[in-house]
Amino acid sequence: MLKTFKYRLYPSKAQEKRMFQVLAVCRHWYNMCLEERKLAWEFEQRHVTKSEQQAKGKYYRKTFPQAQIVFSQTLQSVVDDLDKAFQAFFRRVKAREKAGYPRFKGRNRFNSFAFKQFGVGATLDGRRLKLFGIGRVPVRWHRAIPEASTIKTCRIKHQAGQWYVSFAVELPDQSELPKTGRFIGLDMGISALITTSEGEKVENPNYYRAGQRKLRVLSRALARKKPGGKNRRKALKRVQRQHMHVANQRGDYLHKLSTKLVQTCDGVALEDLATRNMVRNPHLSKSILDSGWGIFKQYLLYKAASAGREIRFVDPAYTSQTCPQCGGREKIELSVRWVNCGCGLSLDRDHRAAINVLIKAGWDTPVIAHVDTGRHGLEAAPL
Ligand SMILES: [Zn+2]
Repeated sequence: MLKTFKYRLYPSKAQEKRMFQVLAVCRHWYNMCLEERKLAWEFEQRHVTKSEQQAKGKYYRKTFPQAQIVFSQTLQSVVDDLDKAFQAFFRRVKAREKAGYPRFKGRNRFNSFAFKQFGVGATLDGRRLKLFGIGRVPVRWHRAIPEASTIKTCRIKHQAGQWYVSFAVELPDQSELPKTGRFIGLDMGISALITTSEGEKVENPNYYRAGQRKLRVLSRALARKKPGGKNRRKALKRVQRQHMHVANQRGDYLHKLSTKLVQTCDGVALEDLATRNMVRNPHLSKSILDSGWGIFKQYLLYKAASAGREIRFVDPAYTSQTCPQCGGREKIELSVRWVNCGCGLSLDRDHRAAINVLIKAGWDTPVIAHVDTGRHGLEAAPL
């Protein structure tokens, strides 16, 4: 299992200058490779392959003396990145989505470079990170990389005026967690982040809204600054830092939530929502993007895999319209939060949906048995 560990770097002035030089060379190389692919297609209808371009890195380094500062495998990884951009482009074309041909990268659009084989070109030297062409860069090790794990690759990033390193680390296989006998269905929603089939609601945390508010204030301040000025640059940096802060908080929160679910449940069922389609719906889009569904699913899946838990995705059709007790179906407006069915089941709308998700997942578990039909049932113990 691969996991990412990210740390802040504190390069000296001279080291930082060299890091910017590496970025500049990589960006130039990226744009050249993109140009080559573009021209080859326009004039010869030919696809230039990844290995073909990687082989040319050698000549590139010979031709441009300033490229000597860049490690050869770093140039290769630039081609890997470009190739990924093309694969994503081809996939979008095939899916008939808005395609967006890979773009040439401007100065502010290229902010990272990688070492694809840790130990070659990038190594640990005591508590410092030794990088080819750059030197021994101090790292703030705010959390330990687990023992008996191996660093596979690393990527150096420049974000909001600060430098970071991300290690892709292979963790030792974890043993499976003991069975709990608990299976849970989730409704991922707009008003609450998650409602479980047991009736519990998990809201978006408050600090998250506060972070968003601060982001708005900073963005307005940025809009008032004169273009091209020094103050504008400073304000932009503040906005970028706040963006990063909000994203970190959200990631952290979703990490904790997914860990808790995987630890306490043998199986978790959720709707197989095509987020990409839903994001197009302007009414729902902001909260969906905000609540980070995609990230959450990803976390759940990899944690479940290493803990021997199962995640099932079910067809979202009719989960909110169907009564989980009698199976009756009726159209329920989005404004209706509480549903009284003729059969006597009276439940919160999202709670109903979560139960239906659990039923659709087909786990042989008594679903309605622990449904409390009174409103007080929602004050269940936290996850
Ligand atoms: Zn009913």
